[in-house]
Formats: sequence, C-alpha cells, structure tokens
Amino acid sequence: MASQTTLEKLAILADAAKYDASCASSGTAKKDSLGGKGLGSTEGMGICHAYAPDGRCISLLKILLTNHCIFDCHYCINRKSSNVRRARFTPQEVVDLTLAFYRRNYIEGLFLSSGIIKSSNHTMEQIVEVAHILRVEHDFRGYIHLKTIPEADAELVHQAGLYADRVSINVELPTDAGLTRLAPDKNARQIERAMGKVKADLVEAKDARRRFRHAPRFAPAGQSTQMIVGADKASDAEIVGKASRLYDNFGLRRVYYSAFSPIPDASAVLPLSRPPLIREHRLYQSDWLMRFYGYKPAEVMQATDVDGNLPLDIDPKLAWALKFRENFPLDVNRASREQMLRVPGLGVRAVDRIVASRRHRTLRLDDVAKLTVSIAKVRPFICTVDWRPVTLTDRADLRSLLAPRREQLELFAA
Ligand code: SF4
Repeated sequence: MASQTTLEKLAILADAAKYDASCASSGTAKKDSLGGKGLGSTEGMGICHAYAPDGRCISLLKILLTNHCIFDCHYCINRKSSNVRRARFTPQEVVDLTLAFYRRNYIEGLFLSSGIIKSSNHTMEQIVEVAHILRVEHDFRGYIHLKTIPEADAELVHQAGLYADRVSINVELPTDAGLTRLAPDKNARQIERAMGKVKADLVEAKDARRRFRHAPRFAPAGQSTQMIVGADKASDAEIVGKASRLYDNFGLRRVYYSAFSPIPDASAVLPLSRPPLIREHRLYQSDWLMRFYGYKPAEVMQATDVDGNLPLDIDPKLAWALKFRENFPLDVNRASREQMLRVPGLGVRAVDRIVASRRHRTLRLDDVAKLTVSIAKVRPFICTVDWRPVTLTDRADLRSLLAPRREQLELFAA
C-alpha cells in the first residue's frame, strides 16, 4: 500500500471517530497560559461546546490514533472484518496535528480514541505517549479527553488520567447479553472493573490534593461513558436502569447515548435501520430528570410505555405527569421547589425564579408565562392566584392537547 499523507490519514481517522458521541468537554479544571507560561487554555474562549448539525461536538480535534483493530465488535465500522480503508498515526503525528490546529485556533483540545493494535497495552501506551508529549514536552494546557481501553493494565489507565482532563471507558451496550452477542471480545465485568479503578484513582487524587497542594491532578473533569442505543433489543427502561447504576457505582460525570448508525457491510445480527434520533434525545431528557430534577430511576421508568420505551411524541417529564395526575395541580405560590421541578414546561431556572419572586409578591399566571416557552403546557398542572385548571388536569384528551404536532417535536423541553 502506498504511504498515506497526513491529510489522507486525517480524513480517514477523523471520519472513523465520528461514531463516538462522548466528546463533550465540560467540567475541567482552570488552566491557562497567561503570563507567558505554557501553551493553551481551558478557560473563557478556550473550551466551548460547538456541535455539528448531526449533534457531534466539533470544538476538539476528534480523531482515532488508528482504525486498525484486532477486535470484531459487530456494530463498529472499524472492526477487524470490516472492509474500510485503514490508517494509523504515530503519537508524534497526533501531537503535531493537535498543536498545529490549536495554534490556528481551530480547536480547544484533543479527543483521542483508537482501535486496538497488537494488544490493549500496546495501544494504551501509544495513547498515553501522545498525552505525555503534549503535556510534558509542550506544556500543552488545552483540554485532553482520552478514551481508555478497559483491557489495558490499570497502571496505563492511571497514567492516562494523570495527563487527561477527562477519561472515558465505553460500556457500549446496556445489557451484558447484548455486549456478549455484539462485542464478543469485550467483557462487561472487565469494563466495570476498569471504571471502578478510575473512580478509586479520582477519589484518591482528590483526597491527596486536599492534603498536599501540589499533589498530581487526576482527570479533573472526571470519567464518562457511552451506550449505543438501538443496536440490540434493550428497552429504554433497561437503559435508564443501567445509566443510573453507572452514575451510582462509578461517580460518572456523564453517560452519553448514541443512536446506533447502520454501517456499510453490516453484520447480519444488527438491525437494518437506525432507531429514531428522537429516542436518543428522550434518553438524554430522562438522564437530566435523574441528575437535575430529583427523579428516581424507578420514576423515570414509570414514564415508559408498556414496551418499556419512553414515548417519542412527548418528553418523559410530561409522560410522568400525565400518568400521575393526582400530584397536580400545584400552587406555585406555596409548593416546594422539589414539587415544582415536576411541572412539565418548568425548567430549573424558571422554578428558581418563581421561588425567588414569590418571596416579594403573589404570582399570577402571567408572571409564570414570562418564565416559560409554553404556558399552555404548564397551565394544566399549576394554580396561581388568578388561575385554577378545574377539570383541565383530569381531561381524558389532555395528552393529545399537549403533544406537539409530529413535525414540531421539541428538542430541549424541560
Ligand atoms: S474495540 Fe470494538 S468498538 Fe473499539 S474500535 Fe475495535 S471493533 Fe471498534
């Protein structure tokens, strides 16, 4: 094979990386090069979250070290049996590209993942080498997210955390059975062991920094993971259950949900079409309900339909409220913050502003309307000094009154 130019490799390896959704870069520690020390910054304009029209983050140089792989995960375009063009960067080439892009202000950092070449340890060593050269030789202070390989030695994963802002290990599929069937070289217990070790390293590093100011940082933006949705038969209830266990057991910052995309020359065990993108979005909304709105996983599961999946036409918060109407209407002048977070159409900011305003005056429906995109969605679930929904809350056709028309599905409802 003729040797490839850097541009050709970049085209192949940036394209191969687009299937990984877990590249958001929030929550890192502040570092900058003000005062002429070092290079790069994670502050201010340094890290921003830009997304391509397909929803992928584009603020980072997001590439694979290589798309060669000795594993054969059915859902992956880079699997060993796939007939794709292959390429491989050396660690130094990735470093040179990152610095060149950074200096041109194209990126704020690097998201680096890889297929597995030779062995898990060999691949992990190369990933760590990229981060080592950037941080130690170039004093690079931009954002680094390293995808780590659960089968690699724990010490190598630890080293990755010493250089990276965030590390992530993909659980890939929501159920052990799905993983065994679609990623036969991977092992669910090994993945969880690796996540457990990262959690222990995070706790230890935090503790050390409380005692010694100069103790080394370890992945200050924490660890995250990604689950593929729709490649197996796992229901949304199973996915929500798995995500909540991952948050509880491994202190994850984020679980990312990535709708399965059919790939060329796909294995016969995969579905022929991708799940609706809105399913991925409903899972993100349910994730927010658990992380910011005080819903227990079992409550989110109560919002699912008989098949265990979240409705696609309405958001999970509205689905829950419609099923448990006995909790409504709530008097916005008296209800607790926790209760009001359950009102469809009221986000965290709106609820906080209601709580702050009602200290000074009694709220009317118009006051609430100013805080929400759709007062029509809120009205059946609240009372104000001048509004009571009377029979509206219990109307049999309330769902159809509130469900957006199909072409107007809302993307970021509270
Ligand atoms: S390990 Fe599996 S998911 Fe990762 S690159 Fe190889 S085939 Fe793809």
